[in-house]
Amino acid sequence: MEKFTLSESPFLDENNPTVFVTAGKGPYQNTVDALRHIDLSPVKGKRVLLKPNAGRLAKPESGICTHPQVVAAAIDVFREAGGIVSVGESPITGVNTLEAFEITGIAAVARQRDCPLVDMDERKFVQVALDGVAIQSLKLCPEMMEYDLYISIPVMKTHMHTGVTLGVKNMKGCLWRRSKVVLHMLAEIDGYDDKPLDLAIADMSGILRPHFTIVDGTVGMEGIGPSAGLPKPLDVVVVGADAFATDAVSCVLMGKDAYNIPHLRIGAERGFGVIDLEHISVSPAIWREFAKPFADPPTDISIGFPEFGILDENSCSACQSSLLLFLKRYGDVILDYLPKDTRYHFAIGKGHEEVPNNTYCIGNCTRKFKNLGNFIKGCPPVGSEILRFITGSPHVDEKDAKGE
Ligand code: SF4
Repeated sequence: MEKFTLSESPFLDENNPTVFVTAGKGPYQNTVDALRHIDLSPVKGKRVLLKPNAGRLAKPESGICTHPQVVAAAIDVFREAGGIVSVGESPITGVNTLEAFEITGIAAVARQRDCPLVDMDERKFVQVALDGVAIQSLKLCPEMMEYDLYISIPVMKTHMHTGVTLGVKNMKGCLWRRSKVVLHMLAEIDGYDDKPLDLAIADMSGILRPHFTIVDGTVGMEGIGPSAGLPKPLDVVVVGADAFATDAVSCVLMGKDAYNIPHLRIGAERGFGVIDLEHISVSPAIWREFAKPFADPPTDISIGFPEFGILDENSCSACQSSLLLFLKRYGDVILDYLPKDTRYHFAIGKGHEEVPNNTYCIGNCTRKFKNLGNFIKGCPPVGSEILRFITGSPHVDEKDAKGE
């Protein structure tokens, strides 16, 4: 197994990290203007991998994936600085990378610029060792060995499992294919109060820290993120070389405190970055005026669906999103198919010892209950399959497949 860590960012400040915020000019110009503050001379002649969030099949401005015009601006600016630029992604399980690039609009802006798109799931992984609390090895996409500079370009979102998902967590999309899921499946770790997922993301950030972060706050997502919440228009872009500092400033713009986001707090405690605003230089001075508080993700995903019991034990966000989107779209429809005097449950995740009667077991992690007769396979399962199973209808909703 190889030892691995990304090189130190050549953009880091010697003293306090610096973060720049731009607002009100649209995604392309906000990004260009923010990057104008950075000395990009280290980019010249370097291979640069832009890593947006194109992890799901979602249209631009749905708040789920990075706005294509932010990616377009990053391509233009890093090329102008002399970089050899590509755009890469490894999406959540069940999503094809190139299809995600098409639907998010990123493929179109890349094609216009003749910029290569990289399906980071295409080739075999590279397994690397790390000295983490929750994880001791990771399967990385091979591209993590082949570029000089990695630029994390997340969209500003709340997240059911991790509070927020920003520049640090976006690097999870550099883990190979289904190996991302492993971080969601870890058992509690003796001696630690924090959730294993948060500890694992902090572990990951010890070796997968991007060289630069561009947080896209054009249209973010609040509430049940990362994909079943509501779009939150903000028209801001936040950039910085310290991903933790950039995330901490983004948190404030979202009405959050990075110290309440466990993976950021833990990573900062370990010295991987700075989240203390007293030690971050933020420009312009009026940056806090751009804030628009984001609704928190609910602590219990059954909220909003009182007719059903939702049993979630160690699921990952892909299964949560599938179930939530399914219930939002079809909850009323399926009530007509279920007996009125019976409460039905949906179980997701691999941590169930047993499930009540009348439980639909959703996703491959619940396969052990297959003999109960209400198992719907998939990793993650798609809503149209759940609908088909419950209603018996062969109807397949195209919107379901496109994540609209
Ligand atoms: S079945 Fe669902 S919870 Fe299990 S690994 Fe797949 S997406 Fe995650």
